[in-house]
Amino acid sequence: MSADYDYDIGIIGGGPAGSTAASYLAKAGLTVAVFEAETFPREHVGESLVPATTPVLIEIGAMDKVEAAGFPHKYGAAWTSAEDRNIDHLGFQGLDHDFRAAEVLFSERDQAGVDRDYTFHVDRGRFDQILLQHAESLGAKVYHGVRVNRVDFTDRDRPVIQAKIGNQSVGVPVRMVVDASGRRTMMGSQLKVKVPDPVFNQYAVHTWFDNFDRKALAVNKKQADYIFIHFLPLTDTWVWQIPITDTITSIGVVTQKSRFKESKGDLEAFFWDSVGSRPELLDALKNADRVKPFKSEGDYSYGLTKVADDSLVMIGDAARFVDPIFSSGVSVALNSARLASTDIIAAFHAGDFRKDRFEGYVNTLRRGVSNWYEFISIYYRLNILFTAFVQDPRYRLDVLKMLQGDVYDDEPKALAAMREIVEAVEADPTHLWHKYLGTLKAPTAAPGF
Ligand SMILES: Cc1cc2nc3c(=O)[nH]c(=O)nc-3n(C[C@H](O)[C@H](O)[C@H](O)COP(=O)(O)OP(=O)(O)OC[C@H]3O[C@@H](n4cnc5c(N)ncnc54)[C@H](O)[C@@H]3O)c2cc1C
Repeated sequence: MSADYDYDIGIIGGGPAGSTAASYLAKAGLTVAVFEAETFPREHVGESLVPATTPVLIEIGAMDKVEAAGFPHKYGAAWTSAEDRNIDHLGFQGLDHDFRAAEVLFSERDQAGVDRDYTFHVDRGRFDQILLQHAESLGAKVYHGVRVNRVDFTDRDRPVIQAKIGNQSVGVPVRMVVDASGRRTMMGSQLKVKVPDPVFNQYAVHTWFDNFDRKALAVNKKQADYIFIHFLPLTDTWVWQIPITDTITSIGVVTQKSRFKESKGDLEAFFWDSVGSRPELLDALKNADRVKPFKSEGDYSYGLTKVADDSLVMIGDAARFVDPIFSSGVSVALNSARLASTDIIAAFHAGDFRKDRFEGYVNTLRRGVSNWYEFISIYYRLNILFTAFVQDPRYRLDVLKMLQGDVYDDEPKALAAMREIVEAVEADPTHLWHKYLGTLKAPTAAPGF
């Protein structure tokens, strides 16, 4: 430790973003402290990974530990719908005549740095603990159960992290701060740069069931261990089905917050009322045993007007979150940690932590989340289009690329095609798809940073 700084880098939050950044930075020889408010293992929503996490887990050396934990393998994703969506007449190629389901297999498309044809469904309590312990094993100092209250940037070259350890207030001087505090967006709130998303205001209610029959709604019964997204015949509402162990399944309902408000905050009534709109799902859930209380998540769609400053970067949910529909959150957490760490290590070697040093990170993250944002917007605006594109051989691999989490290089060509179709459908009330337009209408450019 130098006389001026206790650590080179202070990281706020030991979730997937914080522990991944800590691993990269400690591996590169920087001194790192992670301040984590909770004592792990702690529960967390966000249990289904995408393959873009694989290269990062391999690179930081944590993959063997993740494999050894025995998490269920996730080979693909499937979508089911209650409605009859026969759209043969609309000119898409390769569609089944029955259009109520779609699925993708990750192995259909090669992905740089991905050496296996599956990713994982994870119990986040265990997964996050493995990653944090891994960072510790690489030399990061982890302060467990220590909440950061604020960061004093009076001296930009020497920010001081203010936290409480026991009854004592402490100030820890560092050379640079990484905010990985998740949806609490510690620095986003302190700097007042957090902006709620103008369009998305979804709400989720979720729990775990034992002995739920995962094949109940599966068209192909061999795919029961995929993640399933079941569309409900209710506006902008869907259900996730994620295997957690051989017998335990995570089930969550995502809906518009305004719809949830109508249930006057009764999570249980809201959950059963929603799943009741798909009787076959209701039956399967009634035959299973709920093993956790219902939990809710809200206000999770936002951007930040800045994600880097002198001696500061925000990563993972502390930088941005839009919507869970494509299971992108942990992948963005890991990849933003990877991208930011590259710039931080270069800044460290240059002895210069001014914000220009993090431009590469900011621009790449912006490109990635803009792609996610538009993909998610189109999904909610016209989700029939999403399943059509998944099944059309002209676009299938391009859509799969996004579903694998490969969003950082350029704009996927399917996005441009989808955007054009949505605009045409919006402009023409007689279009056969007009009646399928959802109510959430996003501006073409993603808000936030
Ligand atoms: C309804 C819903 C469903 C989702 N489903 C999925 C999914 O299936 N797949 C997926 O990949 N993602 C999913 N996500 C997103 C996923 O949960 C997040 O993107 C992911 O957890 C982000 O990781 P993170 O490390 O940035 O933040 P977190 O995992 O939230 O970690 C932040 C950590 O910081 C700590 N912390 C916060 N404030 C402080 C402080 N002041 N001082 C010290 N420590 C602090 C917290 O205790 C926490 O441990 C979902 C999100 C929602 C809302």
